[in-house]
Amino acid sequence: MPITAYITHPSCLKHEMGADHPECPARLDAINDYLLSQGLLGMMPTYEAPAVTHEQLLRAHGAHYVAHIETLSPHEGYAQVDPDTRMNPYTLTAARHAAGAAVLATDLVMAGEVTSAFCAVRPPGHHAERDAAMGFCFFNNVAVGIRHAQRQHGVTRIALVDFDVHHGNGSEDILAGDDGVLMVSTFQQSLYPYQGDIPKGTNMLNVPLAPRTYGDAMRKVVIEQWLPAIDRFRPELIYISAGFDAHRDDDMANLGWVEADYAWLTARLVEVAERHAQGRIISMLEGGYALHALARSVGAHVGVLLGAVDA
Ligand SMILES: [Zn+2]
Repeated sequence: MPITAYITHPSCLKHEMGADHPECPARLDAINDYLLSQGLLGMMPTYEAPAVTHEQLLRAHGAHYVAHIETLSPHEGYAQVDPDTRMNPYTLTAARHAAGAAVLATDLVMAGEVTSAFCAVRPPGHHAERDAAMGFCFFNNVAVGIRHAQRQHGVTRIALVDFDVHHGNGSEDILAGDDGVLMVSTFQQSLYPYQGDIPKGTNMLNVPLAPRTYGDAMRKVVIEQWLPAIDRFRPELIYISAGFDAHRDDDMANLGWVEADYAWLTARLVEVAERHAQGRIISMLEGGYALHALARSVGAHVGVLLGAVDA
């Protein structure tokens, strides 16, 4: 049986951006409660995420940008970073631990202590560019993990799979042109951040999905485009930017995916990871705002990762 680590940190519950903000601490509570209720959490070794080091952060972000975020961090109240994104006094700490989760996950998986890891962290990361916070994101957690795998562990071929309903513009910004990384993604066309239709590098496979389509459209893309590209690339390690906002119940977007779609997609990624990467998968939570649907979808995803559910 594969072993899947569960990595989180208490500070991730203290970062909040206002009472009505959809990217809220209750997201993690919903996930944690559901995994516990389904007996899944009991099957996972759990770890507290360390804070990312300055050196690890600077592999993905510019020094001026990191200093800018540190300076903005408020002692009380909020600091507005972009129209949708603000910092409270705990945000910087949470962001450091969210990025540190990717580093720990990478170390655990590369050491063979676990097969895969799910990082239940926030703030999310995939909209954070090298030199810009945006879309609820400050530090690009998954990119920090990928750079750590490259520099610390000498991994030469890494696949990043981003199935959040929004395009992972930040990951693309940081990783485009890196021949050691293949990024494949789906996202709803003409939705925030209004990018992705034209890939920024030959190592990017961006597949926009038409609004008001369902999981079958995603499955077709996975079979016809993602899996052949990943098989050709033969990654030694696979990262997932796991956003669950393409769910039918999530009113952030207009795609109709359901839990079975997330389970199916995860199963295909487990298969390709077993073919090339000794099953090694590191999954980072990104979006997903309908709390019950988010929790059930994460349950489907994690259940397949740790081999408790077939799909
Ligand atoms: Zn999203």
